[in-house]
Amino acid sequence: MICDVCKVREAEIFQPHTGRKLCRQCFIEDIRQRVKKEAEKIGLLKANKILLAVSGGKDSFVLADTLASFIDTNKLIAYNITEGIQGYNRKEQVEQLRKFLSELGIELIEDSFKQSVGYTLDEMVQAARAKGLNVSACTFCGAFRRKLINNAARNIEADFVATGHNLDDEVQAIIINLIRGDLIRLIRFGEKPLKLSSKFVLRVKPLRKIYEWETTMYAYYKGYAFQEVECPYITSRPTLRAKVRELLYMLEDIKPGTLLNIIEEFDNIAEKVRKSYISSTSELKELPTCKICGEPTSYGREICKTCELLIKAGLLHQNLPIS
Ligand code: SF4
Ligand code: ZN
Repeated sequence: MICDVCKVREAEIFQPHTGRKLCRQCFIEDIRQRVKKEAEKIGLLKANKILLAVSGGKDSFVLADTLASFIDTNKLIAYNITEGIQGYNRKEQVEQLRKFLSELGIELIEDSFKQSVGYTLDEMVQAARAKGLNVSACTFCGAFRRKLINNAARNIEADFVATGHNLDDEVQAIIINLIRGDLIRLIRFGEKPLKLSSKFVLRVKPLRKIYEWETTMYAYYKGYAFQEVECPYITSRPTLRAKVRELLYMLEDIKPGTLLNIIEEFDNIAEKVRKSYISSTSELKELPTCKICGEPTSYGREICKTCELLIKAGLLHQNLPIS
């Protein structure tokens, strides 16, 4: 079977959403071109500095590798956080990450929860459990990760934070927010998220139109040995996401291209909603800042989620201004 694009090399891969058979090189090129198109739309090509929020996972690899194929690597700085999860965070994994990034010419900033928060994720989870708190490890992990990534991006004066979320992640998030009826969150999931605080560095997702199976194949073809150990806390993840994921796979199977159609339709609607939201409010109200750490928090709150989590787990001794 000959590749439908170059018509020279042997095809190795079938792309259900386009109906094409592709060879390795044309597949890699297809992904890079689609990421470039998205990057152009977001404004990444004009940025001076972009912080890549990476982990040992395949999507981080694909994010760095695709961006490095069309952006000067001096403008890319990677940032990795070691959460402090026993049996999951391994030294070899960070070494592997450092190696492939340095081969691409991308600097890596290393951080850890222990270093920047004072506790490993395991320590936070244990403290929360000892206090009888019903908060999952992923809640701690997600909240602190977001905060540290934003701080790191601000410190290096980055124009953007780029994360490795793929199409599957993105459509799952859209559907979950739709089910919850959370409009603000929903419109912020568009291509150009709203900036609600001057302390936030804009987060963008250049891989948001690349299927997860495509990022897996890309990493595989490029010979990247990605992290295969699963986080031991994964079972504490919300079940709604798992159900939505299952449903979307079923739909994609029946009608290839469904996920892409959903995201494109969503972007059209989000753009209109965003415009009318902005024009109906004279100016976007700046988010309040946390009385403890000074970082942005949600409207109506006095302290941020991360400080509240630490206080509730007995790891930060302040009086809670809220119940
Ligand atoms: Fe963090 Fe949860 Fe992911 Fe583990 S599964 S790395 S705890 S978000
Ligand atoms: Zn705070």
